[in-house]
Amino acid sequence: MSVSADVFRLPLLPSVRDLLKLYNVKATKRLSQNFLLDPKITNKIVKIANIRNCHVCEVGPGPGPITRALLNRGCVSLTVIEKDPRFIPVLEQLVEAADGRMSVIMGDILSYNMGALFDQNLAVPWESEEIPQLRIVGNLPFNVATPLLIKWLECISNRSNAWSYGRIPMTLTFQKEVAERIVAQIGDHQRSRLSVICQYLCHVSHRFTIPGKAFVPAPDVDVGVVKFLPRVEPLIKLPFPLVEKVVRETFNTKNKIMFNCLRNLFPEPNRKQMVTEALNMADISPASRPIFLDVEEFGRICYAYKKLCDRDPKLFEYDYRSPRKEEGGNDL
Ligand code: SAM
Repeated sequence: MSVSADVFRLPLLPSVRDLLKLYNVKATKRLSQNFLLDPKITNKIVKIANIRNCHVCEVGPGPGPITRALLNRGCVSLTVIEKDPRFIPVLEQLVEAADGRMSVIMGDILSYNMGALFDQNLAVPWESEEIPQLRIVGNLPFNVATPLLIKWLECISNRSNAWSYGRIPMTLTFQKEVAERIVAQIGDHQRSRLSVICQYLCHVSHRFTIPGKAFVPAPDVDVGVVKFLPRVEPLIKLPFPLVEKVVRETFNTKNKIMFNCLRNLFPEPNRKQMVTEALNMADISPASRPIFLDVEEFGRICYAYKKLCDRDPKLFEYDYRSPRKEEGGNDL
């Protein structure tokens, strides 16, 4: 790329607010559209993402307020992925102003594979302390943020999708309560499934909170900006679906003691014996509560569950919501 990203600034453009008026684009609730039109806030997000001299993918650019900040702060290239075609004319203006640094992909990020988005030369081996000069940034729609995060965590655990290039950091927004759950430490009443499955794979930090009133239109909730850096070694070295299942079922009943929390992982008639066996194997007290367990202790429970699954290959498929036929469940 011939452009020197250090010195590149966008030419003077109409404000995002004016462009929204000009193209008569109104926020759609269905796509959770809440725009961040205050440059102080968009610049703060981009500063945290540390994108200078990096190749960046932005999710859900909308009319482009964060996009502008990314381009102005000196990213080398920027690909934006947006679902709503009404933003095409506004984004096209930015493409023109960005002088070859920006491209737009119209699509749904939930099904989009970023595995070919960047040049292969930019990949950095996972085990290296160095991280690739690649970043993912997004003011995510609320209705997409959590399912997308879970999907991406699985990709991080498999080193697939964008993470086939190495440990790409992400700077993402969530409803504040969700951000608090992601970073909640042991003993915190916000400690939940998200805390454990995020923290076993990534270093996470809740960098700042954006008041709801800073958005247009203003949602009823505040928003947290969270930074994720994939760990070199996950704290639990087991397949993501297994870890996710154990952690999800455990926190389904988070205020109960572990003896009850693990019940849903095992079918009758041997449920109690299997819970006892799993807890014994993992050396976890049956009276402990999930919010007081650290990631390493969850790891021991996952290993114990895996041993029991190896003994009974049908166990992993067991879903307490649809009992096995031999227990008297029916197909209807
Ligand atoms: N980045 C802009 C900002 O900060 O003002 C817009 C943020 S708005 C909260 C979320 C954006 O994500 C919208 O532009 C919306 O159209 C887009 N979006 C919603 N669902 C999406 C999906 N599944 N894939 C890609 N973009 C999506």
